Parts: sequence; C-alpha cells; structure tokens
Amino acid sequence: MQFHSRIEAVAVCHTPYKQKFGIPRQPGLVDFVRGHVELVPPYNHLDAVRGLEQYSHLWLLFSFHQNLAQGWKTTVRPPRLGGNEKLGVFATRSTFRPNGIGQSVVKLHHIHQHKGKVTLEISGMDLLDGTPIIDIKPYIPFSDAIPHACGGMAQDAPVQVDVHFSDKAMAHIMRLGPQYPGLQQLIVAVLAQDPRPAYKKAKEDPKRYQVALYDLDIFWYATPAGIEVVDLAPAPSQRRE
Ligand code: SAH
Repeated sequence: MQFHSRIEAVAVCHTPYKQKFGIPRQPGLVDFVRGHVELVPPYNHLDAVRGLEQYSHLWLLFSFHQNLAQGWKTTVRPPRLGGNEKLGVFATRSTFRPNGIGQSVVKLHHIHQHKGKVTLEISGMDLLDGTPIIDIKPYIPFSDAIPHACGGMAQDAPVQVDVHFSDKAMAHIMRLGPQYPGLQQLIVAVLAQDPRPAYKKAKEDPKRYQVALYDLDIFWYATPAGIEVVDLAPAPSQRRE
C-alpha cells in the first residue's frame, strides 16, 4: 500500500561506535557511554526542543542506514537463540527490516547550544556514529514503561563475560588514558557483551577480532576464561575523525 510520506533526517547521532560490530545490541546495555544528537537544518533550533529538558529519557527513531542496501528477509536468526532458530522479522529487533527503522530509548543529560548548533547529550545508545535520526520524542514512563510485560526470548539482559587485558594492552591504555578518559571501562563494557556471532560461541574460536571505538582499533580473542584484549592501535586514517 502506498502512502505519501517524506522522511528525512532531523539530526545525526555522534557516538564512539565507529563500526557496527561490537555496538551493544540494545540501548542501556552500556549505559554510561555518552553520545550527541546534533539537530540538522531546518530543525537545528532550540525552539524545536523547547520543553524536552523536563524529560530524563528520549525515544530516538533512526535509520539503520548502513544496512539499507542489503534489504530485508521475512525471517531472521536472532543471536539470542544461538543463531539456530528462525523468527519472523516483525518478531525480532533485526536491523534488516522493511523501511530500516530503529528505535532506542536513551538518557538525556543536557541540551547544548553552541555556535549555531543544537545538540542533545545522551547516554546508553546502541547507535553507530553518523546514524541519521528521523524523529525524537520524550519517553513517557506512565505509558511507555510496562513493568510486567512478557519479553519473549529477550526477557532478561544477556549474560556478560569476563574481560581481561594483556600487559601490552594495559600499557597502551595507561599511555592513552589522558586522551581517552574511561577507555578501559568502555572496552570492558563493550566486550563483556561478547559481540561475536552466535555460531562462533559454541566451539573453540582462534580468530583475532577487532572493534572500533573512537579512533582506536581494539584487538581481542575469545578464550575459555572470557575475552582477552591483546592490543590497541590507532584506526586506519580513512576512519579517523
Ligand atoms: N534499539 C534498536 C536497535 C537494536 S539493534 C531497535 O530495537 O530498533 C542494535 C544494533 O544495530 C547495533 O548493535 C548495531 O550493530 C546496529 N546499528 C546501529 N546503528 C546502525 C546503523 N546506523 N546502521 C546499521 N546498523 C546499525
């Protein structure tokens, strides 16, 4: 069914998450990480967010813009089910969906206006850096929070794994500390989610993985004792901010 609609970005989200792999799979899983929602013209006006400061949390509606080209499938294999079972796309929070629209509740800390830019400082987001935001709405607890709702296969937050650091990785973190406050805490929180695809988790996995945080690449292995961070390096220049 066709309807007339013109959807465009009202804002762009800036986050430390520079690649899809490793981003928390839902908002709030890594709750302390800050990001910024920058309103874009013609919406970059304080008037457009007047009154929003009364709310502690926001709904962000956004485009899974990096997945749009791949389209969507009727069924998907959610990581929660070990990748073994297929569910309908509308029964999951798959990022490959008709219209490619995502939604996340995030915490609102401040509204800033600086040099003609209006930005919302947020935390807890599960969004890639550069994600187009298509709408912003206040979170209204009396209606949006349903404490005894059934969460299906995702009733509880996923189990976290232990994260360890090699001496070499630790030395890098110490050196980079002043430039990247909270870096170690961020790496631990992101990797404790074990971002590997579900089918990798069942057996021994010798692969060296990489996640991109800020302009750094973090290298790690999955071991029986948890995740071992082995090295940190500046990201290749094309990914630098
Ligand atoms: N809370 C949202 C998103 C859940 S999926 C919802 O339920 O609609 C979260 C995952 O989306 C992240 O782990 C990341 O891999 C992916 N993601 C985030 N921003 C994206 C973007 N701009 N394009 C494609 N995938 C994105």
